[in-house]
Amino acid sequence: MEESATLAMSRKSRELKAQGKDVISLSLGEPDFFTPQFIKDAAVEAMEQNYTMYTPVPGYDDLREAIANKFRRDNGIPYTKDQIVVSTGAKQSIANLVMSTINPGDEVIIPAPYWVSYAEIVKVAGGIPVVVPTTIENDFKFSPQQFRDAITPKTKMMMFSSPCNPTGTVYSKEELRGLADVLKEHPNVIVMSDEIYEHINFGGSHHSLAQFEDVYEQVVTVNGVSKAWAMTGWRVGYIGAPKLIADACNKMQGQFTSATCSIAQRATIAAVNADPAILKDMIAAFESRRELVLKALAAMPGVIANKPGGAFYVFPDISSFFGKKAGDKVIESAEDLCMYLLNDGLVALVSGEAFGDPNCLRISYAASEETLTEAMRRMAAALEKLSA
Ligand code: PMP
Ligand code: GLU
Repeated sequence: MEESATLAMSRKSRELKAQGKDVISLSLGEPDFFTPQFIKDAAVEAMEQNYTMYTPVPGYDDLREAIANKFRRDNGIPYTKDQIVVSTGAKQSIANLVMSTINPGDEVIIPAPYWVSYAEIVKVAGGIPVVVPTTIENDFKFSPQQFRDAITPKTKMMMFSSPCNPTGTVYSKEELRGLADVLKEHPNVIVMSDEIYEHINFGGSHHSLAQFEDVYEQVVTVNGVSKAWAMTGWRVGYIGAPKLIADACNKMQGQFTSATCSIAQRATIAAVNADPAILKDMIAAFESRRELVLKALAAMPGVIANKPGGAFYVFPDISSFFGKKAGDKVIESAEDLCMYLLNDGLVALVSGEAFGDPNCLRISYAASEETLTEAMRRMAAALEKLSA
């Protein structure tokens, strides 16, 4: 298993900062907002009320009830409490799911670009990631035909996110219906639908694959509070799943972590019960940052970017710089360009290789407009310095 590339880049930029270098880090996908006060208040109250002991393994009953309500309210998915498992971040939710469903040799279809940890978690379980590339011209969308063609008798799962990390791609209801049609033809295949960015969507409404009744039994919906509620450090994620799978994840978690933090769980009740409409200022801020970054990238010759519909990432193609030189060093890959931008331009991004696309870089624009403006200026200046 590889080290998480997102976490590795954030570690590297922290190290450079500790050496006194003025690095701007756009490497980690983490909102730069603070957790809303009413959520923090719920945590303080929880401590005062002594919610400080082990909790039920899949989470407090009233939290799971609140999450089931949230799934009905926001996503039109009828999960009951016993189909919900709360974990230590959506990352653990995904790990529980993969560890409890994937046997050595099972194939897991992963449309690329994909979030870094999917393929690595599959490898830990002995599964085989079957990576299917998509293209920037097609907004990095995975088509029903590609899905159909990738399925073999060994396929156990398909994993994807919408809005997508790292591309920001958002699937429409019709596009999800197209994937559901293929899934329906293969009753032994399940889909992990990662919807952690559901509220960070600039184009329209969010749609969930599990809303379609005819594939409901084949979909596990992953979500969490890290992104929308700026709660990355609280470590709370959850799944809604067919009962058999939820039970398996519960059993897995009971041996690994017992449950996630009691106080964070109480705070999460406040988050999932809140009206997502209160997130509109944060979403508007992300949208204007997206415009800022896209405008800056459009002015950089050789950089090709599409317009992402959600999340807080842009994933431009920078392959036109391969073969160019920084002094004596030839830039041969996205990784080389990323290291050059870090060491020379003092901007930390993440190379596309780890997301399954070696032609691109990921820019996380979860930073202030001032920071983004300076980061884009540095990136443009560093790219301009490269010689043929
Ligand atoms: N899925 C996606 C697509 C992500 O970007 C992240 C990053 N945080 C996660 C899952 C995991 O989130 P967490 O563990 O913080 O809930
Ligand atoms: N999901 C975020 C990212 O992609 C956080 C880092 C991580 O969990 O790997 O940057």
